[in-house]
Amino acid sequence: MVVKDVISWTSIVVAYSRSGNMGSAEEVFAQCPVKDMVAWTAMVTGYAQNSMPMKALEVFERMAALGVGIDEVSLTGAISACAQLGAVRRAAWVQEIAERNGFGSNVVVGSGLVDMFAKCGLIDEARNVFYGMQEKNVYTYSSMIVGLAAHGRATEAIALFKDMVRRADVVPNHVTFIGLLTACSHAGMVRDGRFYFAQMKDKYGILPSPDHYTCMVDLLGRAGLVDEAFDLVRSMSIEPHGGVWGALLGACRIHGNTEVAKVAAEHLFKLEPEGIGNYVLLSNTLASAGKWDEVSKVRKLMRSRRLKKDPAVSWFEGRDGLVHQFFAGDNSHPRTNEIKKTLLELVTKLKHAGYLPILSSIVYDVSDGEKERLLMGHSEKLALLFGLLTLGSRCTIRIVKNLRICEDCHLFMRLVSRVEHVEIIVRDNMRFHHFRDGECSCGGFW
Ligand SMILES: [Zn+2]
Ligand SMILES: [Zn+2]
Repeated sequence: MVVKDVISWTSIVVAYSRSGNMGSAEEVFAQCPVKDMVAWTAMVTGYAQNSMPMKALEVFERMAALGVGIDEVSLTGAISACAQLGAVRRAAWVQEIAERNGFGSNVVVGSGLVDMFAKCGLIDEARNVFYGMQEKNVYTYSSMIVGLAAHGRATEAIALFKDMVRRADVVPNHVTFIGLLTACSHAGMVRDGRFYFAQMKDKYGILPSPDHYTCMVDLLGRAGLVDEAFDLVRSMSIEPHGGVWGALLGACRIHGNTEVAKVAAEHLFKLEPEGIGNYVLLSNTLASAGKWDEVSKVRKLMRSRRLKKDPAVSWFEGRDGLVHQFFAGDNSHPRTNEIKKTLLELVTKLKHAGYLPILSSIVYDVSDGEKERLLMGHSEKLALLFGLLTLGSRCTIRIVKNLRICEDCHLFMRLVSRVEHVEIIVRDNMRFHHFRDGECSCGGFW
């Protein structure tokens, strides 16, 4: 093209970010001579949708500082980035910008804020936004129901659902039912769960997706009904995805069902060949049942597949609103030496209080010493230590992790909350864990 206008530049940025190539999107954006609001927005949205929330916020901040206009779309991107990071201070800042730019009563932005605050662990803040909104649609209700469910407030979630269906202008959608079924699952309400699962199809004509089946398998599995859960999976007319088999495998781990565990794992190894967590779950289930021959087979399989490095990452937001990122076994944080030194001191202190590292959380075939070393490099421990270093005792430390928290880190957090008199809130990819005085809100069941 001889004449390239801002629209053609932006189209290329959008095309690259849709295909997940943010590196090229960035290059094109840098070359674009005149950048308008749409071009900036494309970058914010691209980063947010490609799970690069820190970058999304960086661009949004630059955009706000330059005085480029802000619209519903760029705000939604920034809101989604805050939700991914669980960054409390940034969340408040984005809300302020939304209000300052006249989006205070916008239903799309408002629904996003409800979701964002719930994901940041601020469920009361989410409720304030929700009840303050004049106009509410199915997204607003669904965000609130999903948020309440993640915080284990099942009764409230169900009550809100009942309010919602009393309204003539709002009809529940598939997300509403994800929230509802999750609520039942976390509260062990098997009968309600079965009821709503049936109602979804019969009354509202929504065909259950693999995600709904995941909720049901989780619900039945947690309640110890592993066989019923397995039957449900086998009855599915659509292909189950990794989430469904993962929920089943998780239930087998809790209830020690090695036979179903092997079937679930076989499917998972095909669907998610890189998922280290699945190997860990199967291996631990077999180990608890004393099936050591089969444990070593799983380890051999892992070796032959040359599984990649642990992709775990945790985020922690400092007092100044800066978000710190920690990878497993990561040494890149500027205060790594301090973190490691304090971690060693803390481990010694915890061991006096009865801490025994759960070495079975590591499935690699390495020495026990190496297992302990790997455990101490887990991203959420690094984030926690950084939190302790910078916030001191008697504070609340909030951590967000992209994967499920492991058994050892869970125990570690519990003990730290007691020994150091701090409150720790960890959001993993499944739920919130509120650690206080040696106990966790999930009751050790997640
Ligand atoms: Zn861990
Ligand atoms: Zn927990």
